[in-house]
Amino acid sequence: MRCIFCSAERPPSLEHIYSLAIGGTITTDRVCAGCNSILGSRVDSALNNFLPVRTRRAELGLAGNSGEPPSIFEMLLGDQKLIGPEANRIRTSLNKATGKLDHR
Ligand SMILES: [Zn+2]
Repeated sequence: MRCIFCSAERPPSLEHIYSLAIGGTITTDRVCAGCNSILGSRVDSALNNFLPVRTRRAELGLAGNSGEPPSIFEMLLGDQKLIGPEANRIRTSLNKATGKLDHR
């Protein structure tokens, strides 16, 4: 098989035209494994993790290869710094039991 990206004669690899993480189901076998890996790690990853796309994936429950869709609250998780004289640090995490955010 001649790869449509590098033109090398190599064994085919199954490439999603649109990433599985955004619901893509159309595939091609005209891409070699090396080019497929580069597309996945550089192109698909950048698109899938772009905040507006990631937020929409969370809303639609699109898991992709990881098996878990992104959490709708994940952009709010982590260490936050309060503004002003009371600038103590807080930690926000998703309580999976309640589905709500915990602030400490
Ligand atoms: Zn290739």
